[in-house]
Amino acid sequence: MPSLGNLTVLTGPSGVGKGTIVRKILDNHSDVWLSISATTRQPRAGEIDGEHYLFIEKKEFQKIIDKEGFLEWASFSNNFYGTPRKIVNEKLEQGTNVLLEIELEGARQIRKSFPEALQIFLAPPNLSELEKRIRGRGTETEDAIKNRLAIAHKEIIAKKEFDAVVINENIDKAFREIEDLMGLKSN
Ligand code: 5GP
Repeated sequence: MPSLGNLTVLTGPSGVGKGTIVRKILDNHSDVWLSISATTRQPRAGEIDGEHYLFIEKKEFQKIIDKEGFLEWASFSNNFYGTPRKIVNEKLEQGTNVLLEIELEGARQIRKSFPEALQIFLAPPNLSELEKRIRGRGTETEDAIKNRLAIAHKEIIAKKEFDAVVINENIDKAFREIEDLMGLKSN
Protein backbone atom coordinates (compact mmCIF):
# COMPACT_ATOMS: atom_id res chain seq x y z
CA MET A 1 0.00 0.00 0.00
CA PRO A 2 1.72 3.25 -1.03
CA SER A 3 1.81 5.77 1.78
CA LEU A 4 1.43 9.42 0.97
CA GLY A 5 2.57 10.96 4.24
CA ASN A 6 6.13 10.63 5.48
CA LEU A 7 6.85 8.42 8.44
CA THR A 8 9.61 9.45 10.87
CA VAL A 9 10.84 7.39 13.79
CA LEU A 10 12.57 9.18 16.66
CA THR A 11 14.45 6.89 19.01
CA GLY A 12 16.94 7.53 21.78
CA PRO A 13 17.56 6.54 25.37
CA SER A 14 15.16 7.43 28.13
CA GLY A 15 15.93 10.93 29.41
CA VAL A 16 17.74 12.12 26.28
CA GLY A 17 15.12 14.80 25.55
CA LYS A 18 12.95 13.17 22.87
CA GLY A 19 9.79 14.51 24.48
CA THR A 20 11.03 18.12 24.44
CA ILE A 21 12.09 17.87 20.81
CA VAL A 22 8.77 16.28 19.84
CA ARG A 23 6.86 19.14 21.54
CA LYS A 24 8.91 21.68 19.59
CA ILE A 25 8.22 19.88 16.31
CA LEU A 26 4.48 19.78 17.01
CA ASP A 27 4.38 23.41 18.17
CA ASN A 28 6.15 24.60 15.02
CA HIS A 29 4.72 22.25 12.40
CA SER A 30 0.99 21.70 12.36
CA ASP A 31 1.41 19.29 9.41
CA VAL A 32 3.14 16.72 11.64
CA TRP A 33 1.03 14.28 13.63
CA LEU A 34 2.38 12.42 16.66
CA SER A 35 1.16 8.90 17.25
CA ILE A 36 -0.10 8.37 20.82
CA SER A 37 1.19 5.05 22.10
CA ALA A 38 -0.53 2.60 24.39
CA THR A 39 1.36 1.64 27.53
CA THR A 40 0.92 -0.50 30.62
CA ARG A 41 3.12 1.88 32.64
CA GLN A 42 1.51 3.96 35.39
CA PRO A 43 0.97 7.62 34.48
CA ARG A 44 3.54 10.05 35.87
CA ALA A 45 2.30 13.14 37.67
CA GLY A 46 0.80 15.47 35.06
CA GLU A 47 0.42 12.83 32.35
CA ILE A 48 -3.04 12.70 30.82
CA ASP A 49 -4.68 9.57 29.43
CA GLY A 50 -5.26 9.97 25.70
CA GLU A 51 -2.81 12.83 25.44
CA HIS A 52 0.57 11.53 26.57
CA TYR A 53 -0.29 7.86 26.31
CA LEU A 54 -3.29 5.57 26.27
CA PHE A 55 -2.80 4.02 29.70
CA ILE A 56 -4.15 0.48 29.61
CA GLU A 57 -3.99 -2.75 31.62
CA LYS A 58 -1.73 -5.64 30.58
CA LYS A 59 -4.75 -7.78 29.69
CA GLU A 60 -6.05 -5.15 27.30
CA PHE A 61 -2.58 -4.69 25.79
CA GLN A 62 -2.37 -8.45 25.15
CA LYS A 63 -5.78 -8.40 23.44
CA ILE A 64 -4.55 -5.72 21.04
CA ILE A 65 -1.40 -7.78 20.32
CA ASP A 66 -3.60 -10.81 19.56
CA LYS A 67 -5.73 -8.78 17.14
CA GLU A 68 -2.53 -7.48 15.46
CA GLY A 69 -3.66 -4.02 16.42
CA PHE A 70 -0.13 -2.72 16.94
CA LEU A 71 2.19 -1.59 14.16
CA GLU A 72 4.98 -2.41 16.57
CA TRP A 73 5.22 -3.08 20.29
CA ALA A 74 7.96 -3.75 22.79
CA SER A 75 8.62 -4.44 26.42
CA PHE A 76 10.66 -1.69 28.06
CA SER A 77 11.72 -1.57 31.72
CA ASN A 78 8.98 -4.02 32.84
CA ASN A 79 6.17 -2.38 30.89
CA PHE A 80 4.69 -2.72 27.43
CA TYR A 81 4.50 0.06 24.85
CA GLY A 82 2.85 -0.09 21.41
CA THR A 83 1.89 2.00 18.41
CA PRO A 84 -1.76 1.66 17.31
CA ARG A 85 -1.80 0.38 13.73
CA LYS A 86 -5.11 1.62 12.32
CA ILE A 87 -4.84 5.33 13.01
CA VAL A 88 -1.22 5.54 11.82
CA ASN A 89 -2.10 3.83 8.53
CA GLU A 90 -5.10 6.15 8.10
CA LYS A 91 -2.99 9.26 8.72
CA LEU A 92 -0.34 8.16 6.24
CA GLU A 93 -3.00 7.38 3.64
CA GLN A 94 -4.44 10.85 4.16
CA GLY A 95 -1.03 12.31 3.38
CA THR A 96 -0.24 13.37 6.94
CA ASN A 97 3.37 13.27 8.14
CA VAL A 98 3.51 10.88 11.07
CA LEU A 99 6.05 10.92 13.89
CA LEU A 100 6.70 7.93 16.16
CA GLU A 101 8.63 8.45 19.40
CA ILE A 102 9.61 4.90 20.31
CA GLU A 103 12.44 2.77 21.71
CA LEU A 104 14.96 0.62 19.83
CA GLU A 105 13.07 -2.67 19.42
CA GLY A 106 10.06 -0.85 18.04
CA ALA A 107 12.26 1.12 15.65
CA ARG A 108 13.69 -2.16 14.38
CA GLN A 109 10.19 -3.52 13.72
CA ILE A 110 9.22 -0.37 11.84
CA ARG A 111 12.40 -0.68 9.75
CA LYS A 112 11.04 -4.00 8.49
CA SER A 113 7.45 -2.93 7.89
CA PHE A 114 8.24 0.60 6.65
CA PRO A 115 11.74 0.52 5.14
CA GLU A 116 11.10 3.95 3.64
CA ALA A 117 10.61 5.56 7.07
CA LEU A 118 13.26 8.04 8.20
CA GLN A 119 14.91 6.73 11.37
CA ILE A 120 16.59 9.27 13.64
CA PHE A 121 18.54 8.45 16.80
CA LEU A 122 18.79 11.20 19.43
CA ALA A 123 21.92 10.64 21.51
CA PRO A 124 23.08 12.27 24.73
CA PRO A 125 26.48 14.06 24.75
CA ASN A 126 27.62 11.32 27.18
CA LEU A 127 26.22 8.79 29.65
CA SER A 128 26.83 10.84 32.80
CA GLU A 129 24.81 13.70 31.32
CA LEU A 130 22.01 11.23 30.60
CA GLU A 131 22.07 9.95 34.17
CA LYS A 132 21.84 13.52 35.44
CA ARG A 133 18.80 14.15 33.25
CA ILE A 134 16.97 10.96 34.28
CA ARG A 135 17.65 11.70 37.96
CA GLY A 136 16.69 15.35 37.48
CA ARG A 137 13.30 14.28 36.17
CA GLY A 138 12.67 12.78 39.62
CA THR A 139 9.95 10.42 38.41
CA GLU A 140 11.65 7.01 38.71
CA THR A 141 12.73 4.76 41.59
CA GLU A 142 16.44 3.96 41.99
CA ASP A 143 15.89 0.49 40.47
CA ALA A 144 14.05 1.94 37.51
CA ILE A 145 16.82 4.54 36.98
CA LYS A 146 19.48 1.81 36.96
CA ASN A 147 17.39 -0.27 34.58
CA ARG A 148 16.85 2.68 32.21
CA LEU A 149 20.59 3.46 32.22
CA ALA A 150 21.47 -0.15 31.40
CA ILE A 151 19.00 -0.09 28.50
CA ALA A 152 20.40 3.29 27.39
CA HIS A 153 23.86 1.79 27.14
CA LYS A 154 22.58 -0.94 24.79
CA GLU A 155 20.53 1.52 22.74
CA ILE A 156 23.48 3.85 22.22
CA ILE A 157 25.53 0.97 20.83
CA ALA A 158 22.78 0.44 18.23
CA LYS A 159 22.76 4.06 17.01
CA LYS A 160 24.71 3.14 13.86
CA GLU A 161 21.63 1.29 12.58
CA PHE A 162 19.87 4.62 12.15
CA ASP A 163 19.71 6.91 9.11
CA ALA A 164 20.92 9.82 11.22
CA VAL A 165 22.31 10.41 14.70
CA VAL A 166 21.63 13.78 16.33
CA ILE A 167 23.49 14.66 19.53
CA ASN A 168 21.36 16.56 22.00
CA GLU A 169 23.94 18.89 23.44
CA ASN A 170 21.79 21.93 22.80
CA ILE A 171 18.04 21.51 22.45
CA ASP A 172 17.52 24.22 19.80
CA LYS A 173 20.38 22.96 17.67
CA ALA A 174 19.14 19.36 17.89
CA PHE A 175 15.63 20.54 17.00
CA ARG A 176 16.89 22.42 13.91
CA GLU A 177 18.87 19.38 12.79
CA ILE A 178 15.82 17.15 13.09
CA GLU A 179 13.68 19.74 11.28
CA ASP A 180 16.19 19.63 8.40
CA LEU A 181 16.29 15.84 8.33
CA MET A 182 12.49 15.70 8.18
CA GLY A 183 12.43 18.30 5.43
CA LEU A 184 10.39 20.72 7.53
CA LYS A 185 10.68 24.44 6.85
CA SER A 186 11.66 26.58 9.86
CA ASN A 187 9.18 29.25 10.87
P1 5GP B 1 8.60 6.40 29.11
O1 5GP B 1 8.20 5.38 30.11
O2 5GP B 1 9.84 7.16 29.53
O3 5GP B 1 7.48 7.31 28.69
O4 5GP B 1 9.00 5.63 27.77
C1 5GP B 1 9.95 4.61 27.82
C2 5GP B 1 10.45 4.32 26.42
O5 5GP B 1 9.39 3.76 25.63
C3 5GP B 1 10.91 5.57 25.67
O6 5GP B 1 12.15 5.27 25.04
C4 5GP B 1 9.83 5.79 24.64
O7 5GP B 1 10.32 6.39 23.47
C5 5GP B 1 9.38 4.38 24.36
N1 5GP B 1 8.04 4.26 23.77
C6 5GP B 1 6.98 5.08 23.95
N2 5GP B 1 5.95 4.66 23.22
C7 5GP B 1 6.36 3.57 22.53
C8 5GP B 1 5.75 2.68 21.59
O8 5GP B 1 4.60 2.82 21.19
N3 5GP B 1 6.51 1.67 21.13
C9 5GP B 1 7.79 1.47 21.53
N4 5GP B 1 8.45 0.44 20.99
N5 5GP B 1 8.40 2.28 22.40
C10 5GP B 1 7.70 3.30 22.92
